[in-house]
Amino acid sequence: MPKKGEHRIMVGLTCKVCGHRNYVTTRNKLNTAEKLALKKFCNKCKKVTDHKETEKLK
Ligand SMILES: [Zn+2]
Repeated sequence: MPKKGEHRIMVGLTCKVCGHRNYVTTRNKLNTAEKLALKKFCNKCKKVTDHKETEKLK
């Protein structure tokens, strides 16, 4: 059996408007196969914008 937590990957959430990475979060790639897309507050745009998953961190 795989160890608990093995399928959690860290990803960055980037603002679609300005391209600034505002959040780092984790995703379980077994439970959530597709990339994340969320509405989040962007510190650069000073408003809630669409954010998408852009990078895998370790
Ligand atoms: Zn932005």
